[in-house]
Amino acid sequence: MNYKTPFNKPHLTGSELDYISDAVTSGKISGNGKYTVMCQELMQKKYGFGKCLLTTSCTDALEMAAILIDVKPGDEIIMPSYTFVSTANAFVLRGAKIVFVDSRKDRPGMDEDLIQQLITKKTKAIVPVHYAGVSCDMDKIMEVADAHNVFVIEDAAQAIDSYYTDKYGNKKALGSIGHMATFSFHETKNIISGEGGMLVINDSQFKERAEIIWEKGTNRSSFFRGEVDKYGWVDIGSSFLPSDIIAAFLYAQLESIEKIQNRRIEIWKSYSINLREWASKNRIALPIVPEFATNNAHMFYLVFNNIEERTTVINALKKEGILSVFHYLSLHKSPFYELKHDGRELPMSDHYTNCLLRLPMFYNLSDNEIQLIIKTITKSI
Ligand SMILES: *Cc1c(COP(=O)(O)O)cnc(C)c1O
Repeated sequence: MNYKTPFNKPHLTGSELDYISDAVTSGKISGNGKYTVMCQELMQKKYGFGKCLLTTSCTDALEMAAILIDVKPGDEIIMPSYTFVSTANAFVLRGAKIVFVDSRKDRPGMDEDLIQQLITKKTKAIVPVHYAGVSCDMDKIMEVADAHNVFVIEDAAQAIDSYYTDKYGNKKALGSIGHMATFSFHETKNIISGEGGMLVINDSQFKERAEIIWEKGTNRSSFFRGEVDKYGWVDIGSSFLPSDIIAAFLYAQLESIEKIQNRRIEIWKSYSINLREWASKNRIALPIVPEFATNNAHMFYLVFNNIEERTTVINALKKEGILSVFHYLSLHKSPFYELKHDGRELPMSDHYTNCLLRLPMFYNLSDNEIQLIIKTITKSI
């Protein structure tokens, strides 16, 4: 079926082709070129990130992180069940056992209070996912991690330009808090390059090795800086760098981040204000942004009371040519992991699997479309 209003439409800022053309004519279009460095430096400076390395996806950045913390078969990694498969896959590829945590009652992020009891001698890392770009309680997570000497890798795929205020009142960009963090620039995210991602390394013990893993296990980056006189195979690695053509596209997006974010926040507020009364009357939950978090308007979602309500609204929107989608089937119940999971029930994760619905959210969504979406939803239940 063809939808008049899709769920997502990639937004172009207008400079993408100019920068791509510049990259192409400059003659260096492989990885780690001028635009790659410009993107990395821009984000390091703007967000206070440690070392940034662009990758071909967030999936790849997660795989790099798993290599960097030296995940071995049998190591345990704690993460939410309600997340994208890549969060888990990256660690499963290295033989890890995934220990899933349930979601919170008030929002789909993982319940920070359940982490402590899941830590064992085998726990290697905690991977909080900043669902919808809204921060987890990072003080709680970092405290548990520090007490047990485990790493924290933020899956910040959805969390560009979003912040957390810690208990001392310091405002920190998401991705700057854990030992490492991973971002996505997939076309469904706020800032895009088609496919694309980034690894942020805040713990400096990983900086040198990260470059090597990024460059297929060679010390090529040190060679180009003149630090060694020849380069060769020094570690495991893979081809994690994107072409500079991708980075050129991404740079155009990053230059317009303020404008993109402002419009997305406007759309988000419009949904929130106009659906509030209807939602409260029908006991349908809208996104909650806790005191310590900011909202980067990555996503607007509704949490219904049951699957039937959700289906009713999906169908009503479909009739008007509007595509709304749900996502994340609890990973602990997935065909691949169900038998490997330790059997604990994760009721909130299942609740969001059955009852959460995402509304169209993209830069070029018009005010008329938003009004029609709101009208259709509020008339359907
Ligand atoms: C989008 C997403 C990913 C994967 O990002 P890619 O760049 O497509 O690999 C991983 N984790 C979460 C939470 C995501 O939303």
